[in-house]
Amino acid sequence: MSRVYDIGIDLGGTNCRLALVDDQGRVSEGARFSSRGFSRGGELITRIAAECRTLMDQVAGDGDRIGAVGAGVPGLVDAQGQVVAAPNLGVLDGVAFAEELQRLLEVPVAVLNDANAIAWGEKIWGAGRDLRSFLTVTLGTGVGGGLVLAERLWVGVDGCAGEFGHVNVEPEGRSCGCGSRGCLEQYSSATGILRSVRTALEQGRPSLLATLSSEALSAAEVGRAARQDDALAREVLQDAGRRLGQALAGVANLLNLDGVVVCGGVAESLDLLMPALREELYRRAFERPARRMKILAGALGDNAGILGAARFGRDPDVVWTA
Ligand SMILES: [Zn+2]
Repeated sequence: MSRVYDIGIDLGGTNCRLALVDDQGRVSEGARFSSRGFSRGGELITRIAAECRTLMDQVAGDGDRIGAVGAGVPGLVDAQGQVVAAPNLGVLDGVAFAEELQRLLEVPVAVLNDANAIAWGEKIWGAGRDLRSFLTVTLGTGVGGGLVLAERLWVGVDGCAGEFGHVNVEPEGRSCGCGSRGCLEQYSSATGILRSVRTALEQGRPSLLATLSSEALSAAEVGRAARQDDALAREVLQDAGRRLGQALAGVANLLNLDGVVVCGGVAESLDLLMPALREELYRRAFERPARRMKILAGALGDNAGILGAARFGRDPDVVWTA
């Protein structure tokens, strides 16, 4: 019997990854290429279409077919799959992504924001499977957020919801790329954690991390040092956790969710963030919503976005319409 696969696309500011996804959520790797260096959005879409064609030919060779294509993109996306703004991949600004790709491929194409793709992947196949309403927080280069409410994605009236990284945690704190100051992203992302470490090292704080070159210094190394009881590394991760807990207390009070799913590279150190996160959450939020809100690590790693995008391609009607 012939099988139907979907193609999931994880388009980031640096790389684009495509994979085949079957109906059991199994991922088989397709292509990966640099998303930089395209002068127009149309060129990037033409390249993506060519990679999709290769996958389509591959499955057709086995007598199978592609049902749908879904893409997670780094930007704000409207209900028609047009990219409204893409600060980290400017060539996509204003591009009718879904329409153009669908015209080239002649299979259904749906597009959503990358953080929402991760949230939807975790909902269908990952840590969010048993949660009806939850927030996905992605701690990577920045901090992303994707909101699932009563089993459906809430993207907001204008497609702008879920920007959890820009919740304020320090009124006059570090300036942020969004134009504000003191956003969560400036403290609890990998970038923010490294900034805290560098500042402390420059002030002469002793640490295992002082022996690393600036290229070798990463959030993973900070986690490793903390596990070796390095005081500076532990302190920086606790500060990241404390600020995350502060922002999540607001979420608990506002939305009374079943849980929070923490994804991204920094999630590997979630256990090190947790004591300070929990303390802050319970100190600031009402007891009932704070206790209700489970804090879980994402279960799908780098595949969450691919899996969520592929499923969204097949079934794009999971978004609440405002
Ligand atoms: Zn910001």
